[in-house]
Parts: sequence; structure tokens; C-alpha cells
Amino acid sequence: MNEFQLSKRLEKVASFVATDSRVADIGSDHAYLIVSLMTQGKIEYGVAGEVVKGPFQSAVEQIKKSGYFGKIHARLASGLDAIHSEDGIDTVVIAGMGGVLIRDILSDGFQKGKLEGVKTLILQPNVGEMQVREWLIDHGFQVEEEAILIENDKIYEIIKAVTSPSPVQANSRQLRFGFHLLEEKNEVFVEKWKRELETAEFVSRKLKEAKTPNPEKELEIASTISEIKEVLS
Ligand code: SAM
Repeated sequence: MNEFQLSKRLEKVASFVATDSRVADIGSDHAYLIVSLMTQGKIEYGVAGEVVKGPFQSAVEQIKKSGYFGKIHARLASGLDAIHSEDGIDTVVIAGMGGVLIRDILSDGFQKGKLEGVKTLILQPNVGEMQVREWLIDHGFQVEEEAILIENDKIYEIIKAVTSPSPVQANSRQLRFGFHLLEEKNEVFVEKWKRELETAEFVSRKLKEAKTPNPEKELEIASTISEIKEVLS
């Protein structure tokens, strides 16, 4: 992978970015995504935020090499602190992290007013998609598009959310399985939930064999198993 040839996962993330957006990519690592968006002529301004010095340095080098030094700003900062009000950012991308970390980054930034003016969030949690969707619904966003794909035998979900003019309702099934993904139920979705079912059944067996019973956890896992089975049936 490089700035000219993104991974299939980052390619899909990039496809969710609207033309002429002003994008902040948080946790940019090597900055491939933002440089690629600029190279494609898709964005006019970008911020690459990174909290760790090593990846931040590689983002700086990548941006210098690309010739977009004045148009893409690399910032060593935690989460949405990388965004300054004068950037006029309208789209935030957070990809390749756990859902709980993504949620915490969004919460912290929301409290600091960093999402004022942001219309679109493009999020790719590696796990914990449910926590991300819960946060979105609770903070005035609606899920506009979702994608699920498999790359190197790993399954990834990508969520594009936009600010909603009115409160959005969601049930637990939509939060767990995805609004659009649940409607579509494509092959990768079925594969993901077969794998999740296997894991849940394994956990359930282990809980039943355990010396110390944990009835609460057993009930929780039993309900997850029956929900997955219903969705797959
Ligand atoms: N976004 C890229 C992608 O999807 O390929 C890189 C993903 S990499 C696994 C996660 C990156 O997020 C790492 O470079 C890590 O240092 C950075 N990161 C983790 N927590 C962060 C935070 N609170 N603020 C900014 N960057 C963070």
C-alpha cells in the first residue's frame, strides 16, 4: 500500500469522501489516505492528525514528498485537537482503530466544540461498531451509508454519518448489525455474522463449563446468539 495504491479498506473509506471536502484524517499514520484524496483531486484542504511521534514524522515526510505541504497540514495532536477552527473542516475520517477509542475521540472532541461545522463523519472501527453507532445516534448524526468488505481474511465495516436535522430513532438490532448492512445482508455480512456466532457459541460453552457460574453473562451471550441466528435465518 502507498499513496497511489491504497488498501481495499482505505479505498472504500476514500470513496465515501465527497468531492471538494475539507477533511481531517485522525490517526493518519503514514498519511496515505489524505495524500491520495488530494492526488485524486477530491479534496482541497486536509489535516493529518497523529498522536504518536513516529507515524507523525512519516506523515510529514509523505506530505513533503507529495508536494502538498501547504494544502495538507500534519499535526501532532490527540484526537480532534488536531482540528483548528480556521481549518473549516467539514469531514472527519477516523479509520483503523477500535470502536471504543473512536467513540472516546468523538466524545472528547464534541465536548471541546471540535465538531462544530463538521457535517460528515467517516468511521472505520476494527471492532466495536455498535458503540460507534450508539454515539452517532445520541449526538445528532444519522447513518447515511455503510459498507462491509473483506481484505486479507479480515472483515471491515465503514460507516458514513451526516448531521441530522431531527432526532434519529434506532433499535438495538440496527445498532449492532448496521442500518443499511442489515437491509442488504450481502455475502460478507453473512460471513461476518457466521464468524461472530461461532465465537459467541464458544464463549457460551466456556461459560457453562466454568467452575464459577456467571448467569448474567450467560443470559447476555444467549440473547446475542439468538439475535444473530434470527438475522441469519
Ligand atoms: N488511519 C490509518 C488506517 O486506517 O490505515 C492508520 C490506522 S493505525 C492502526 C491507527 C493510528 O491511530 C496509529 O497511527 C495511532 O498512533 C493513531 N492514534 C491512536 N490514537 C490516537 C489519537 N487519540 N489521536 C490521534 N491518533 C491516534
